Amino acid sequence: MKNKSSPKFVIKKNLQKSVQTGIYFTDQLTQEILRDVCYKITGQNVFETVFVENDYFDQHLQKGYNKGRLAILYYNGTANYVSFSEKEIGGRNSSVQSVPTAYNMFYINEDMDKHIYYYFLNEVGNADTDYQMLIYRLMKTVGFNFLNDLQSLGISILPFNSIEDIIHTRRANAGRNQSNNSTYISKSSINNYEIYGKTYGANKYETSMICYALSHLAAKNQILTLYEVCERDLEELPQSSLDVLQKMNNILVVPTDLSLEKKVFEENNSLRSPRYIFNLYAKLGNKRCAFCNCEIPELVQGAHVLPVAAIKNLPAISIEERVKKATDGDNGIWLCENHHKMFDEGILIINLDGSVGHCGGMEEQNIAFVNEVTVVKQLPPSILTPEFIKYLDMRNRLVG
Ligand SMILES: [Zn+2]
Repeated sequence: MKNKSSPKFVIKKNLQKSVQTGIYFTDQLTQEILRDVCYKITGQNVFETVFVENDYFDQHLQKGYNKGRLAILYYNGTANYVSFSEKEIGGRNSSVQSVPTAYNMFYINEDMDKHIYYYFLNEVGNADTDYQMLIYRLMKTVGFNFLNDLQSLGISILPFNSIEDIIHTRRANAGRNQSNNSTYISKSSINNYEIYGKTYGANKYETSMICYALSHLAAKNQILTLYEVCERDLEELPQSSLDVLQKMNNILVVPTDLSLEKKVFEENNSLRSPRYIFNLYAKLGNKRCAFCNCEIPELVQGAHVLPVAAIKNLPAISIEERVKKATDGDNGIWLCENHHKMFDEGILIINLDGSVGHCGGMEEQNIAFVNEVTVVKQLPPSILTPEFIKYLDMRNRLVG
């Protein structure tokens, strides 16, 4: 009978900046921890461990320091990727920022016989904030197995069942913090989901994981579009994340840098700007008509208070200032298609105190209709910011 080989860990010794911090992965991954990991994955207690230096590489590990806080556990021809949490969990994003990196390495590898795991090492700090729980659930959705979630968090992490499940869960958790989101998910038609995601700095972790999860959950005929809301000059998601999205093959990636928006602004009188939509989400929350509370995402649009055409005619300001006004979250409200048209045509007006009225000279039955469908007669204070009032004042002077 052929002997089965014993499990073997191959682990990069150096973490990012190990030389400066003096913290090495060898110190964090004690034999006791590795035995626990090995037993949970293979059922074996006896194993071999090889810690390797930066210049080492093989089929599963790249040159350089330990990206993704990974250990690779080989057993019976299977490569088990195990990503470890930080020991001390500090800021909102820091504890899970190695997750997309670990997943990227795992996903892009051509080896078919592979699994991915996550192990909580944390001893200091909270590992279960709303933000972290979101990331864990996204991880579970894309195939991570949690080895000690029950012991460490006291609960079993559950995957999302559908894209709508993600949208509803985020809405339920949003509260007042939704302007902190890196990403917003919207639906433009029955089979088209749109993701508006910031890609710079720490935002890229949430945006990457949301995209991966949506890609996993999308039905065959569904099309996903990621609008990358880049800062200043083009700063897209990292190449390794873009490679994963390309391999997933159902997400269209559209970068939206400011120079592109400048061009779109100059050539059009209406602006279909992902940055504008993102900014409206950040200010107003999920799509909901300000005049009738309609929440059907396919019907609700961003409506400018000071129209793009009027911004173009403003005297003596730079093109950058114009684009800023055209994409400002304070220069807009969500309106359903019907109310957008009524607002643009001047049938409905917003007074400076936020009350909603209609124009004069309409026929009796039309006034009755407009009154009936416009259930909101007064906009809430959350919309009526000083900047919003400024845009509204300019609009009303133009119209009046
Ligand atoms: Zn409406």
